[in-house]
Amino acid sequence: MAAPVPPGAPRQQPPTGPPPNFQQNPNALADNFQNMNLNRPPSSNTRPPPFGQPPPFSSSSPASPMTRPGPFPSGATLRPASGSPSPTLPPNMAPGRPSGPPFGQPPPFGARPPPPGAFPSSMPPSAGSPPYGAPPPVTRPSPVASSSPVNMGPSGAPSGFMSNGPPAPAFQAGQRFAPPGSSQHQPPMGAPPAMGPPARGPPQAGAMRPFMGSPGAGASQVLPPSGMGQAAPAFGGPPQAMLGSVASPYAPQMPSQPGVPPMPGSMPPPRMYGMPPPMQNQMTAISPVIGQTGGTQPGASKIDPNQIPRPIPSSSVILHDTRQGNQANPPPPATSDYIVRDTGNCSPRYMRCTINQIPCTADLLTTSGMQLALLVQPLALPHPSEEPIQIVDFGEGGPVRCSRCKGYINPFMKFIDQGRRFICNLCGFTDETPRDYHCNLGPDGRRRDADERPELCRGTVEFVATKEYMVREPMPAVYFFLIDVSMNAVQTGATAAACSSINQVIGDLPEGPRTMVGIATFDSTIHFYNLKRALQQPLMLIVPDVQDVYTPLQTDVIVSVSECRQHLELLLESIPTMFENTRTSESAFGAAIKAAFLAMKSTGGKLMVFQSVLPSIGLGALAAREAEGRSNVSAGDKEAHKLLQPADKTLKDMAVEFAEYQVCVDVFITTKTYVDIASISVIPKVTGGQVYYYHPFSVVSDSVKLCNDLRWNVSRPQGFEAVMRVRCSQGIQVQEYHGNFCKRIPTDVDLPGIDCDKAIMVTLKHDDKLQDGAECAFQCALLYTTVYGERRIRVTTLSLPCTSNLSNLFRMADLDTQFVCFLKQAAREVPITPPLHVREQVTNFCINILLSYRKFCATVSSSGQLILPEALKLLPLYTLALIKSAGLRIEGKIDDRSFWINYVSSASTPSAIPLVYPRMIAVHDLDTQDGNGSIVPAPLPLSSEHVNDEGIYLLENGQDCLIYAGNSVNPDIMQQLLGVPSADQGGAEFTLQQYDNPLSKKLNEVVNEIRRQRCSFLRLRLCRKGDQSGMAFFSYLIEDKVPTGGLSYVEFLVHIHRQIQMKMSS
Ligand SMILES: [Zn+2]
Repeated sequence: MAAPVPPGAPRQQPPTGPPPNFQQNPNALADNFQNMNLNRPPSSNTRPPPFGQPPPFSSSSPASPMTRPGPFPSGATLRPASGSPSPTLPPNMAPGRPSGPPFGQPPPFGARPPPPGAFPSSMPPSAGSPPYGAPPPVTRPSPVASSSPVNMGPSGAPSGFMSNGPPAPAFQAGQRFAPPGSSQHQPPMGAPPAMGPPARGPPQAGAMRPFMGSPGAGASQVLPPSGMGQAAPAFGGPPQAMLGSVASPYAPQMPSQPGVPPMPGSMPPPRMYGMPPPMQNQMTAISPVIGQTGGTQPGASKIDPNQIPRPIPSSSVILHDTRQGNQANPPPPATSDYIVRDTGNCSPRYMRCTINQIPCTADLLTTSGMQLALLVQPLALPHPSEEPIQIVDFGEGGPVRCSRCKGYINPFMKFIDQGRRFICNLCGFTDETPRDYHCNLGPDGRRRDADERPELCRGTVEFVATKEYMVREPMPAVYFFLIDVSMNAVQTGATAAACSSINQVIGDLPEGPRTMVGIATFDSTIHFYNLKRALQQPLMLIVPDVQDVYTPLQTDVIVSVSECRQHLELLLESIPTMFENTRTSESAFGAAIKAAFLAMKSTGGKLMVFQSVLPSIGLGALAAREAEGRSNVSAGDKEAHKLLQPADKTLKDMAVEFAEYQVCVDVFITTKTYVDIASISVIPKVTGGQVYYYHPFSVVSDSVKLCNDLRWNVSRPQGFEAVMRVRCSQGIQVQEYHGNFCKRIPTDVDLPGIDCDKAIMVTLKHDDKLQDGAECAFQCALLYTTVYGERRIRVTTLSLPCTSNLSNLFRMADLDTQFVCFLKQAAREVPITPPLHVREQVTNFCINILLSYRKFCATVSSSGQLILPEALKLLPLYTLALIKSAGLRIEGKIDDRSFWINYVSSASTPSAIPLVYPRMIAVHDLDTQDGNGSIVPAPLPLSSEHVNDEGIYLLENGQDCLIYAGNSVNPDIMQQLLGVPSADQGGAEFTLQQYDNPLSKKLNEVVNEIRRQRCSFLRLRLCRKGDQSGMAFFSYLIEDKVPTGGLSYVEFLVHIHRQIQMKMSS
């Protein structure tokens, strides 16, 4: 391209004319389907909710208590009878949108009141980008810092962190959005309001909970029961912030101004395992008997399992200022519930670093054993109480940028020379201030207008993109649905479930003439449908060639949703019956997505594929690599992990082409068999999409989840045709990006689709020394198109202090982020490395960090103690959980593991942690448990010691929710909670229902709250002792010893400790 294209601009060729393969299908069949009018309801707008979906709610009404009529009739029918909408809630349907914020009409997440004042325009065109200038010389710090002595005195009580602590009070999220003032139209199936408290009332009072202790000398130790008491951890220091019984001062209610779209999708982050805050020079010492010679046999430890580090739930909502006193404020744990005030650094939701201080040298980082990486989630859901991101419009000139590195103007660019010039905080270059952006400096050296301009005082802003950032008009919102109608899909009910789900979420698509839809079905051939209004009925157009694929007339198969709504609904109702007698078992999956892609090629958009069987013919066909019956690969099979790699490059090559034309693919796999997710998942991975996996698919228990997943998929905050780049201050550079995207040039990632749930890991490396005490900045720029066709640049900047002190690194380590980075790397490793090696790598990672701390920072002399840095004291527990997780479990099913790998690759920190370290709660006594203000009771340690035969337990990891009933449960309680006297009668196809008793009501509340926290509907399964389901449940109890060789938590600590001792003495 001759014209200068900014680094952030997409490089795809503007589509010119019809796609190459464009042609009218010569074989198109003009069938008018006789059955199109069968079963047609009187009015397509008043169809009853299939699967017992909740009736439409007005999104402006508060989440009033739902009528919960009696139990859902068993044997739910897939296709609803015609009639009026039933007010009946489905058995396990949350009385609101459980999986996401309640915006029926998702607003453009950028659309907000304009910032005060008009911004000048006319930036001079930027010049090229020379390499970074020479950094200032820095003194080389000692890799080993002197850490303060730690009080390991033998007095005091065992520290409080060992208990699981009180559960967190529910943050009364209530109505999480201002009622959309502009939503005059409610879709028939618009997203209902969130369940939960009716309105955002005053948050529950929480205990004061500082999240950053003051520099304290206390050390926390876990002691053998007979041992000496130790000082409790000093959680002293003034609380950073706390949420009292009064609504947050930072949390102005979003005004529901008419015409002003509400804040974009937001909901409280999943909150649970809040860790106690890292404290200065805090450490945990464990004195296992293995410290003494001779006591080395595993299991012989006398460590009290109740006194070893475990996550404790946070007990209150944390208020977090990103900077205070012109210093970066270390963020609260990613898994805690917090409200951010952006005071210069970006919210940790959008970007957080594995260490909140940056090591000055690569050597120092290496010595620490830790990783330096960012987890970036540019469209993350904010907390509803947070101030919305400001939109800044610089007019035609576009945002002010550094002319050398192209970094965007941010609060850390330093204006000098009476404001006439500014120094880039990323590359150090000095630029002239554009004349119309000039402003005098105040006595403090800051621009006088700094506090009025979001780009000068906020860590995150969104710039309106100018023409310079577009290679074409912003694309429309295009949604193409592709449905498997092969015999298996039809017979299992998957086809009907997909059609019904799509039908229910059409109303959730962005409103407006720019929203387009298309639909096709496939078995051994591909069937497009002409949705033009002029036609009386949708016309089917068959593409028989599944090798050399083409598409029918594109303008007829992708149509504005307002133009084809009725046709579409009619068609979706008809598809299951149209194919009900099919005998075609083949699936031309690859050809079908290619054909759909060709139809979407000129615009780009979201392709959502519902697939049920292994792709067997045509382009991209796959072989059943994993024969039936060999689904459990033996541990001795050294090549087994290769089944986790894509079978060949066909689908990958297709995906790269899709990405180039801005087509993002999501695959909903509703199957009972092996479908080779390892091969299929390449397409979502490369195009910024997602895999959803329902296995073994059950119409009864999975249809509601499918519908909710689809609804959240289309209605969550998201963007199209995006490009992202992270810039760093001199001295640090991006090493690699990990996530679901396509990469064509080293510096940028291309994201045909990006949504609030997707995170990208950015690993960093030193290319020079940093100066102790200086700050190192990271800036993520995401150029994207909103669902309403606005081109935006979301810029998030994080500036962190540099240190040459090793103890500071340990003190400022971010456990969750650190661990999730390692989890993502392990997931990438699993398909190419035998699992045992991956486990070893994972363990060594943990050992090396603890060894470094022990060697250079800990002041305890006793070799009999395992010393854990306070901020990382859960690292061994998480490491053990990772080793035992589904992805690294050798005996796991190949597709399960492939799904796990794919999920981890784009998972955010708050969703990745529970995936390996799930939450378990007791539910048999829900009515008597004191939740301490929280709907979800305090989690139990993941140990079978906490699972009684008389109890019923719920265990969830954000994807699955297992309900386990012991063998001796009181049948009365079983009946009350689950409607059956014993787990034996629950059956595989379990649905949670609400019965007329307090226990059942409470359980439903808990499940709905978990769904809300996780933004996921959760697959519910009933497990019982002694069979496969029970084993699945116990496999999550990662503290247990596994008969096949997996260490218990205590044994693992012993193992780690022994390794550290060996390395210390060698
Ligand atoms: Zn620069």
